[in-house]
Formats: sequence, structure tokens, C-alpha cells
Amino acid sequence: MGARPAPLLIFGAVFAAAFVLAALGYFSLRRWEVAAERELRGQARDTAAMAAEKVEMAVVRAEQDAIASLQVAALAPDFGATAVEAWKARHALFDAVYVLDRQGRVLYPVGWTRDEAELIAALRAEISQGFWDRGGRRHVEVGGHVILAAVIPGSSRGPLLVGLRRDDQALHREVLEKTLGGTESPGSLAILDGNGRTVFGSPAVDRAEPVLTVPFGEALPAWRVALYQPAGLSPREMVRRQAMIFMAALALLLLVIAGGLVATYRLVRRESEIARLKSDFVANVSHDLKTPLALIRMFAETLEMDRVPDERRRREYYGVLTRESERLSRLIDNVLDFSRIESGRQRYEIAPGPVEPIVHEVVESFRHPLHQQGFTADVTVEPDLPDIPLDGDAMKQALANLVDNAMKYSGDRRHIRVAARRDGAGVAVEVADDGIGVPISERERIFEKFYRVGRSETQGRRGSGVGLALVKHIVEAHGGRVTVDGRPGEGSRFTLHLPGLPLPSGERVG
Ligand code: ADP
Repeated sequence: MGARPAPLLIFGAVFAAAFVLAALGYFSLRRWEVAAERELRGQARDTAAMAAEKVEMAVVRAEQDAIASLQVAALAPDFGATAVEAWKARHALFDAVYVLDRQGRVLYPVGWTRDEAELIAALRAEISQGFWDRGGRRHVEVGGHVILAAVIPGSSRGPLLVGLRRDDQALHREVLEKTLGGTESPGSLAILDGNGRTVFGSPAVDRAEPVLTVPFGEALPAWRVALYQPAGLSPREMVRRQAMIFMAALALLLLVIAGGLVATYRLVRRESEIARLKSDFVANVSHDLKTPLALIRMFAETLEMDRVPDERRRREYYGVLTRESERLSRLIDNVLDFSRIESGRQRYEIAPGPVEPIVHEVVESFRHPLHQQGFTADVTVEPDLPDIPLDGDAMKQALANLVDNAMKYSGDRRHIRVAARRDGAGVAVEVADDGIGVPISERERIFEKFYRVGRSETQGRRGSGVGLALVKHIVEAHGGRVTVDGRPGEGSRFTLHLPGLPLPSGERVG
């Protein structure tokens, strides 16, 4: 068939498209990753810079305030150690204060340790003459401490140099917590000192990877704001995760498309097979109609012309007429019922009744053809079978189809067994033959409409392929089912399992 390469072509096209899509997806993923990282870095830098600026501004403001109030105190004529102490008590940000006059004399503190002596000396050395003259303030790093040095006007002693040593703990408490405490992502932000130690930041930061650091200004020399990315949440990973989800969705979509294609392909194949079976059906039915009609006509004409030599022959001819017209009726009934089933118009009149008369009646109607074709038939009906819900005519038709098939598909061993027995609360009716049997692989399909096992054709057995479909429909309308067993080449047995009447409540099917 010309249509064969089409599915291959479609599959090829789908997979080529999928491949192109995957390749494009890969390259966009890479770009996406880079862009996401760049964007995140930009955002992180902005956040860090803003935090640094805020902290720096707060520190500078606190320092300005401190210097300003010290300046006010220094202008008082009685400025001395007591005033500095009082000032210190109000400015917790500084843990040490040094006040020197222009001559380098230490006015405060009154006594000092050796470390402090070093510190004072370093402070003196750091301050140039120009600074004394210009005034102002600057940060000086001495012995690991940041000292704010400022020249302020004194009362009578002339300008004074003050050195304010910042207390890191107070800085943390007074400035960092106040300015950064409410930051949106405190978990990912930290402040590192000159040695890279975390001065401020949540412990969650420990397991995170640093994205970038931003230095502070002059007020916090060597300190940095660091921004961290919680582990597993890097933009690359996030993009990759999203891409995975996207890819999975795409794969699912492709699978659905492929599944749809397969289903469509199968459907089309099935439809074309049904179309072929239908045309076979028409040919087969026509042929089946023709054969008995030709026989009827031939025998009727012979009788009409009075060419029959004796009475026995004549009776035989009448028998042929009856038999063939019965066959014709059966065939037409099958076709009509089948068409009614197809259009959903078939109705059954089901009422409780005995199975036995149906079995006998059907076998009786086949007595002549059975005898003529050399068949022997066994009929066994178990005594005292219960009445079951039945449409008598439909059940006869089902059984007749089975007997007809048993005859049609028998070879040299011409023996048929029809039996009715109890089956739970219902009845099972069997028709068995020693014929060609049904291949195991075909046991489901023979009940499909128009379906015929390939060999039926080649072995010259005509048929329409609707008989068993009809049997199945009838049995199922009775709430039962039809099964087939037996061995291919040795015969087959079709069983109609018919349920019994609804049981009185409390009883169980044994
Ligand atoms: P058909 O008109 O072809 O007999 P059916 O629907 O009655 O149509 O049967 C379908 C197919 O099942 C038959 O073509 C035949 O291949 C197979 N079949 C039915 N009954 C028998 C049987 N008793 N033994 C072997 N094969 C059977």
C-alpha cells in the first residue's frame, strides 16, 4: 500500500522536530543561565552597595553627633576629665577616648596602660601639622582598632585632638543591627571584618556560597559587605531546574504526540481492515444467498416439471427445499439481526423459561442436514435444569449459529455434541465438534464482527463473519458470556454461560 511510508515519515518528522527543539533549547539554556547570573550579580551588587552605604552613613552620623557633643563640652571653661567621663557615658559606640592638646600633652585619660601609650604615640604620629591647622576628622587604624581622630576647638587651651576608639560590639548593637536588622534578605547578607570574619550576618550564611563582596568607605576600612547565595539556589541551578521541568514537559508532549500518532495509525489500519472485511462480507453473504436459492430453484423446477421418478425421491426433494429455505432464513435473520444490533435497534424479550426445549428444537431443526452430511450428534441435557431469563428466539438463533459453525468447520470426523448443564445458579450450553479448532491467538477475535480466521477462506468454507458476533451479543444481552476452548486441529467447544434468575435474598450461588 502507498500509505505505508507515511507513518514512518511522520515519526521521522516528529523526531527531527524534537531534535531541533532540543538543540535550540540547549543553546537558549546556556544563554539564559549567563543572563540570569549576570542579572543576579547586578542585583546583588546593588543590594550590597545599598547596605554598605546605609551602614557607612549611620556610622558617620553617629560619629558626627559624638564629635559635635564633645566639641560643645570642650568649649566649657571647666572642660576636664569629668566632662569627658560624662560624655563617654552618653556615647557607648566608643570604648576609649583620648584628648591631646597642641603640645602633645595627654589631657585624658589621666593614666594609661602601655598599650594605650603605644596607641597615643601612634595617634600623635599620624596627625600632621597640617591636620592641626586644617582641622576636620579622619579615621586612623592603630593596633587593629579604628580610631576616629578629630581636631576640635578647645576653650582656653587652643585646639584639641580627640581620638575616639570604636567599640565593635557597640557598633554591632547600635549601628549594624539597627540599620540592617530589617533588611529583606538578612540571611544572605553578612558583614566581614578585615580578617574575613563574619561580624554580622545569620548563621545560615555559613553553608552558602559568596556571590560578591562590596567594600565600605573610609569609616569602616577593610570591612566588606558580602552577599551569599544559599546552596542549591544559584541562578544556574535555578535555570537548570526550570529547564529540566520544561524539558520534561516537552518530552511528555512528544510522547503524547507519538502516542496519538500510533493510536491514529492503528485506528486507520483498523478502519481500513473493517472496510475490507465489510466488502468481503457483502461478497460472502451474496454467495451464501445464492447457493440455497440455486438449489431451491433447481429442485422446485424439477418437481414442477414432474420429472421425479418415485415418491421417495420426491420427498427427498421437498426435504431439500425445506432445508435450504431454512438455511436461507437463518442467513437472512443473521444479517437482519446484525444490522439491528449495529444500529442499536435490537431488542430482546427476556422472560424466565426452560433451556431444554430450545436445545432440542435447534438440534431437531438440524436433523436433516446433520444426517445428510454424515454427522452424528450427541445431545445431553442435565435433568432438572432451572428456568433462566431467556429470549427463546434469540437463544435458538445463537445455538443454531454454533451448530451451523460446528458442521461448517468439521473435517472428516463428523461428530457434534450439544450439552446443557448447571453452571452455578445458571445454565451452560455447549456445542462441541472434532473439527479444525480455533487457534489460541484468534480466540478473542473470532467474536468480532466480520472477522474470520484466515483458513476459513482458504479451506473453502463460506460465511459472513457475523455469526459469532451475534452469538456474543445475544449472550451478553442475557447477562452471560461465551467462551471457546479445545485444541486447534482437534476440535473446538463453544460454551454459553447463562446466568440464573435473580436469587431470593439470603441465598448464595454455590
Ligand atoms: P463465519 O460466517 O465465518 O462462520 P462466524 O462469526 O460464525 O462467521 O465465525 C467466525 C470465525 O470463527 C469463522 O470464520 C471461523 O474461522 C471461526 N469458527 C467459528 N466456529 C468455529 C468452529 N466450530 N470451529 C473452528 N472455527 C470456528
